[in-house]
Amino acid sequence: METNIVSRSRGWLDRAKTLIEAGEVVAFHTETVYGLGANALSDEAVLKIFALKGRPADNPLIVHVHKDYDISPLIDGEPPYAAALRRAFLPGPLTMVYPSTGKVSKYVSCGLDTLAIRVPSSPTAQAFLKAADLPIAAPSANLSKHVSPVTARHVFDDFNGKIPLILDGGACSSGIESTVLDCTGDIPQILREGLVTREMIVEAVGECGVYHAKSGERPKSPGMAYKHYSPRCKTAYFPREELEKAVACYREEEACGAPCFLCESEVCALLQGFRTLDLGRTPEEMARRLYALLRKGEQQATLLIGIEPREKGGVMAGVMNRMKRAFGVEHGTKES
Ligand code: AMP
Ligand code: MG
Repeated sequence: METNIVSRSRGWLDRAKTLIEAGEVVAFHTETVYGLGANALSDEAVLKIFALKGRPADNPLIVHVHKDYDISPLIDGEPPYAAALRRAFLPGPLTMVYPSTGKVSKYVSCGLDTLAIRVPSSPTAQAFLKAADLPIAAPSANLSKHVSPVTARHVFDDFNGKIPLILDGGACSSGIESTVLDCTGDIPQILREGLVTREMIVEAVGECGVYHAKSGERPKSPGMAYKHYSPRCKTAYFPREELEKAVACYREEEACGAPCFLCESEVCALLQGFRTLDLGRTPEEMARRLYALLRKGEQQATLLIGIEPREKGGVMAGVMNRMKRAFGVEHGTKES
């Protein structure tokens, strides 16, 4: 199969619609990361996504819809704060989890009685979703466990010959996956941190919890239990206070391989003469650059050495979560 990287011209949007209606899979730009989309109403189409990615069968998918799509047939009621959240953050990088009516394929939510829905703001995503005018199940368009894709080329590198179309919208502006928010309880609860922060949600609706799975319990957001976002090279990770140890680790690798640091600008400046990949200065910049640099790192280095950024709150909660998982510091309980 030939894999075409295309723009959102009328002709290619019509082609995307035809493919989706035929139960095929289409990759598309969003403001967070690229998605691998298929008709959420079709069992066969949804199962194709799992097969293509090698995604574990108990890791549910997010359903994407355009901004005028009526989600009421898909959801079984909603709490009072949900409308205010939609007004404040949609379209945008917030996924809301609702009680499900079970209208979409049972494979989307992997047996959960809830459904995760997102309305992306990317014009390419909106044009694609409008053309399809169906609920589109779409995880990130990377092979399972690999680093999420933030350019069409990244998607191509993982799926060349396996999917017909990649709708190119340029580099993703947010750069890490959406915030996943459980909207089934009395107060909203963050299941996965992202660009819409707890502070922003509190500001909009007054209250917001952050979910942490208790040991032994099936996590509410099953995907968070998996090893994720891993570059295909050796990795090491050091807190900022252990920069000397990190340098020793670099020197040791240098004897036989090609080490490289991944760190914020301020630390890069201290590492003159070493190979570095610069995450940037602000939390938003670090979110935008992280995945592209992890992919660059795996191509250029035999050992990628992450240095923990200084800031921790707000958007950095999401960045730190992805970074630690990429470097294998925190990856829950499962290995696949
Ligand atoms: P990805 O599409 O690869 O960004 O992963 C989707 C994330 O959304 C995973 O972490 C899932 O566990 C989470 N998710 C999807 N559907 C649900 C749901 N119904 N309830 C809770 N989390 C969900
Ligand atoms: Mg993913």
